[in-house]
Amino acid sequence: MEMTFRPILEGKPANEPIIIAGPCSAETEAQVLLTARELAQQQISIYRAGIWKPRTRPNSFEGVGAEGLKWLRHVKEETGLKVCTEVANTQHVFESLKYGIDVLWIGARTTVNPFSVQEIADAVKGVDIPVLVKNPINPDLKLWIGAIERLYKAGITRIAAIHRGFSYHGDTKYRNVPRWQIPIDLKRQFPDLPIICDNSHICGRRDILQAVAQKAMDLNFNGLMTEVHPHPDEAWSDAEQQITPAQYKEMMARIVFRMPTTDDMEFLENLEHLRHEIDELDEELLNLLSHRMKLAERIGEYKKRNNISILQASRWNEILERAVIKGRIKGLSEEFVTVVLKAIHQESINHQASVMNRQDVDAMKG
Ligand code: PEP
Ligand code: MN
Repeated sequence: MEMTFRPILEGKPANEPIIIAGPCSAETEAQVLLTARELAQQQISIYRAGIWKPRTRPNSFEGVGAEGLKWLRHVKEETGLKVCTEVANTQHVFESLKYGIDVLWIGARTTVNPFSVQEIADAVKGVDIPVLVKNPINPDLKLWIGAIERLYKAGITRIAAIHRGFSYHGDTKYRNVPRWQIPIDLKRQFPDLPIICDNSHICGRRDILQAVAQKAMDLNFNGLMTEVHPHPDEAWSDAEQQITPAQYKEMMARIVFRMPTTDDMEFLENLEHLRHEIDELDEELLNLLSHRMKLAERIGEYKKRNNISILQASRWNEILERAVIKGRIKGLSEEFVTVVLKAIHQESINHQASVMNRQDVDAMKG
């Protein structure tokens, strides 16, 4: 579907980053106002707070409900900030519009459901309000595009996508793995659709928020959404990933907002492909090294049984000389090959030593 988008924030240059910050949830009027006052001094573009919270399990804090909309209106009146909240059904949309919410966002658990997205699209029909669409929790680009198309068909043209990472069942440092290729693909298909990185929900922790935000900026993302709370540890939702206004200030000061190096999405896509290939090679290298160490351990066992010393200088010199020659042919410097092989050799010795008993090793070294 052909779509032409208008800027989220009118009167601002299109290349100015869209900076959204605020608590995961509105908890009390005091908390909402305190956070907003601090953030208003930091030139953010939009203040966020969840009023209705989609929680994985009941009995968690499910948001303060419509009461919180008054607090957001208060923020708007006092600080002049634009305010934004999450909507998941018709009633949320109507209540938000009634209280003058400036921007709506659709959460990841709603984007997955075309019935809900259609319901929201029907509810905003005829209203010129910006809507931010988070990616669905599963890595399905079509579903993400589908939600954007439903809003567009309802006449909404101020749309941005929010990349908040994807649910992943496995070992990862992220709460939701970023899979950068997916938002990049979205941008390639819709170059004028702004994409905002929600580093908080990607990370689920504080220590990597800045790195993820920087990565998004390096990939020409158009903005950031970050959760900020006056007392993060005591937050009623997403405590682990929220930061104080002061920490937020520090993070934002450290991020390098690069001027887009190119509008050519093909360039970024190729770059991401190459990086992906490098990541895969690195993993393969680790697998190979681990395999090599297992072989060293087997040799260790064998040597122990036959009472042969670990270090056999002639064999080591042979390996090194051969590698330097082969490396040169493959474009690797002698220095590099020597450093790498020495490190590998040392690790092999350590592995061998661990299978032979310490006494034996010391005796052999002596
Ligand atoms: C949120 O922004 O607080 C939220 C619930 O996010 P998501 O829909 O990305 O889980
Ligand atoms: Mn949250």
